[in-house]
Amino acid sequence: MLAPYAVHLEHSRGRRFPEPHHPYRNDYQRDRDRVIHARAFRRLEAKTQVFTRRYSDHFRNRLTHTLEVTQISRTIAGALNLNVDLAEALALVHDIGHPPFGHAGEKALDAAMREHALSFDHNLHALRIVEDFEQRYAAFRGLNLTFEVREGIIKHSHDYDAKEHPELAEYLLDLRPPLEAQLIDLTDEIAYNTADLDDGYEAHLLTLDDIREEVPAFGNAFEEVVRIYPDAPDKLKFNEALKRVLNRFVDDLIRNTQKRVNDAGVRTAEDIRRHPMRLAAFSSAVESERKQSKQFLYENLYFSPSLAGEKDEAEEVVSDLFAYWMGHPETLPRNYQEKAKEDGLPRTICDYIAGMTDPFILEQYEKHCGS
Ligand code: MG
Repeated sequence: MLAPYAVHLEHSRGRRFPEPHHPYRNDYQRDRDRVIHARAFRRLEAKTQVFTRRYSDHFRNRLTHTLEVTQISRTIAGALNLNVDLAEALALVHDIGHPPFGHAGEKALDAAMREHALSFDHNLHALRIVEDFEQRYAAFRGLNLTFEVREGIIKHSHDYDAKEHPELAEYLLDLRPPLEAQLIDLTDEIAYNTADLDDGYEAHLLTLDDIREEVPAFGNAFEEVVRIYPDAPDKLKFNEALKRVLNRFVDDLIRNTQKRVNDAGVRTAEDIRRHPMRLAAFSSAVESERKQSKQFLYENLYFSPSLAGEKDEAEEVVSDLFAYWMGHPETLPRNYQEKAKEDGLPRTICDYIAGMTDPFILEQYEKHCGS
């Protein structure tokens, strides 16, 4: 039942190290399972998405966010007759390269690297995790994932310039990624734009009135809910409205992507790659709703004064620890001291910090920088 323009396993560019087929799991299902069994995947549980555990232990963390993105991606890929196994593996791996403390940690790590004329990028880091850092197999380093999963890690959310990244040449940077990978960036948006409204409201950082007024997709859905359930408690009306927003975004992405694929006349996954633009997209009406919701979250949640203190602390922890290890490399674990001889000290410290969970980096900070 796969669409002709879906990624078909028999056209896969395969693994770096050829392996015999598994008797009852196909290669993308095996990649999905390799990601789930990776250490870096398990650590997502203790990494901040937006809120630290200080707020509540039922808010999203990077792991539960990843699971939400995965389920939404499976639904959309299935409705479009795309390769659901590939989409699932890509969604599960999409945030694996994120450092502790969410965006604040990423920003601080990149700033620390820029002092050494280097940089930190979570997609490039994710590729190094699956290619190099995860060591589970005797025959090769890394997870030996199929080409399509590695390509999706690099290309799902960002177009890297082929001239600036000669090391990524094998990932066909001049071509678009398959639809399965194109979807991930948009389902990521759907997942966090709705989840962050939910957690932000629950944390009392966002008010129902503000959301209704400034996020039109939500406001319209809420009016409909009020008509149907006038006497329901606010929190349940909120949930009903948010569910409608999520469904609206998902439904639009499915329909509009299908329409664009039909209009473009593409027939195969290679046509999708060679098409001059990405074909997975929201309609212009829903795209502007998505932007309004994102804008609202930036202004009222991500950059809110309530979260500012915690973000400053997070940046301080990352940059102080980075500076400490630059000055005291002998206190790094022995294997990282060895790695520094090959990769240089800044990159090695960056890799070490990027892999940490929030509690582990706080422990390290206390140990090395605590007064
Ligand atoms: Mg994400």
